[in-house]
Amino acid sequence: SLSDRLTNTFKNLRGKGRLTEADIDATVREIRRALLDADVAVPVVREFAAAVKERALGQEVSEALNPSQQIVKIVNEELKGILGGETRRIRMSKTGPTIIMLAGLQGAGKTTLAGKLSYWLKSQGHTPLLVASDLQRPNAVNQLKVVGERAGVRVFAPHPGVTSEFDTPTGNPVQVAQDGVNEARAKLHDVVIVDTAGRLGVDAELMQQARDIRDAIEPNEVLFVIDAMIGQDAVNTALAFNEGVDFTGVVLSKLDGDARGGAALSVASVTGKPIMFASTGEGVKDFEQFHPDRMASRILDMGDVLTLIEQAEASWDKTEADRMAKKFMDQEEFTFDDFLAQMQQIRKMGSMKKLLMMMPGAAQIRQQLDNFDDKEIDRVEAIVRSMTPHERVAPKIINGSRRARIAKGSGVTVSEVNQLMERFAQAQKMMKKLAAGNMAGMPGGMQM
Ligand code: GDP
Ligand code: MG
Repeated sequence: SLSDRLTNTFKNLRGKGRLTEADIDATVREIRRALLDADVAVPVVREFAAAVKERALGQEVSEALNPSQQIVKIVNEELKGILGGETRRIRMSKTGPTIIMLAGLQGAGKTTLAGKLSYWLKSQGHTPLLVASDLQRPNAVNQLKVVGERAGVRVFAPHPGVTSEFDTPTGNPVQVAQDGVNEARAKLHDVVIVDTAGRLGVDAELMQQARDIRDAIEPNEVLFVIDAMIGQDAVNTALAFNEGVDFTGVVLSKLDGDARGGAALSVASVTGKPIMFASTGEGVKDFEQFHPDRMASRILDMGDVLTLIEQAEASWDKTEADRMAKKFMDQEEFTFDDFLAQMQQIRKMGSMKKLLMMMPGAAQIRQQLDNFDDKEIDRVEAIVRSMTPHERVAPKIINGSRRARIAKGSGVTVSEVNQLMERFAQAQKMMKKLAAGNMAGMPGGMQM
């Protein structure tokens, strides 16, 4: 994943006060690769990388974050910015029905979306009408009828003669769209969703038809539906539709597949239009409002590492950090008091289990995580608190009779005390290594 790659890039960077241009270049190169892997269009990647580099240059290294985390944070903020920050809602008409027109290539997911959108609107108390203005393909009208039935929504399809999937509907799609809107007005539907035809590739005739429909019905929203799997073609398709129908919002479909969502970034970046919805399956409920932050972390393939970064930043205790840093520099012995302090840091960041769950790769160790018990930290803390101040700074004196006393005091077994002593000895060794080599930027407890 990107976070792994960045961690590698930064292995040798720890302890630096400021990132050099070469450091940043190395990281930006990794980010560029990650974006290309996510199928973000090449020119978009180039522009994005330049923006990140500019922001990263001259940044102070933060107290709470190591350099890779810091750049990931910048990248994430930039991504969210391009993806629109806030979710944009449908603009509802104040007078008469809200008119929503769907546009996009054939197979993009328009008709499926018509069902989902109408189902979703209906569940919010609206009374949508679906209008079948795709007269291009045999079965297009029937498909919309099926979709409407599933959503429990009325379909306006005045196409006599369409009785089987092999019949090509006849008629004028512009007229049908207009009649559909009039029907909605007459029957007091508060939303009309007009499904239109698409072709396999962008073509002038199709675009003209879409434009004619748009001009005839003057929609409140023109939603451009694009298949998230489309990859590098996203930019050209989006630009053509933006120019052709000047859409007002984007719907990303087929996000349930393994597409990493690069199309989202490409489309948002080149058109500046908001992504409003995500389509995530063939079912009528597989649909949600678009969340820029989730998409940003999907594109970067980083689990919830970003949440982790935010929490680390929010809870980082500078005084404690400085104290630990000084200890490392002076190569002082790591004591049980330090151990306690680190546990406090962990507690401040929330549940240890939750933190572990958010690490990239957590899915693979789900089993172990499920067995992880946050109460373990309580037990450990109880043991340490049963030690005398002298024992805490000089653990070597903790012999058998002292262990028995500590066990009794903290309500655990002697073998549990023994286990902790062993683990503590290991931690001490690790701290020595850290002190000798590099001061990791992760908050204290995480180094354990
Ligand atoms: P249209 O030509 O733009 O109207 O596209 P359709 O709505 O007919 O969809 C084309 C195909 O993609 C159909 O087989 C749909 O079932 C499928 N499809 C549409 N949206 C999604 C989605 O979000 N996820 C998945 N997995 N399939 C989808
Ligand atoms: Mg269709």
